[in-house]
Amino acid sequence: MSNTRRYVLPDQAGTEALGARLARVPGALVIFLHGDLGAGKTTLVRGLLRALGHAGLVPSPTYTLLEPYTLRDRHCLHLDLYRLGDPEELDYLGLRELMDGDVLVLIEWPERGAGALPPADLELRLDYDGDGRAATLHAASERGQAALELVDH
Ligand code: ADP
Ligand code: MG
Repeated sequence: MSNTRRYVLPDQAGTEALGARLARVPGALVIFLHGDLGAGKTTLVRGLLRALGHAGLVPSPTYTLLEPYTLRDRHCLHLDLYRLGDPEELDYLGLRELMDGDVLVLIEWPERGAGALPPADLELRLDYDGDGRAATLHAASERGQAALELVDH
């Protein structure tokens, strides 16, 4: 059973649609989002949160580092660690406490938080591909593998 899937995302709607498919996965889940600036990480998170019922904007938490959402009793955390100085800052933000319970955690620039983050269930990489994007979704845990099956069916 393969633990990696590849998707072609011809436009922004395609990126949002992949985010919406990730919204099918119930329960606790940690997703690392890799890719250059402008690759579409925040776009994908927006598609996911909208599919969970979020009607407002999805600001990039570049300066706040962390944006919490509660949607139909579902707890979500969106992190963007691009400007994180030191992984220890994540303790001051209360990440550990916020992760108590069934939380869906989406982390942009996870490499900057190395050592202070929970392990990923899914690793998603977005790459420029002509005018569009290509996504690679990799299951990094058993929970991530089950999620991969749900996203694909
Ligand atoms: P990141 O969070 O990775 O820095 P953003 O999601 O903020 O990137 O911005 C991505 C930009 O690329 C947006 O302007 C969005 O409209 C565009 N975009 C997203 N997905 C695609 C796609 N599949 N094809 C073309 N453009 C896309
Ligand atoms: Mg972003």
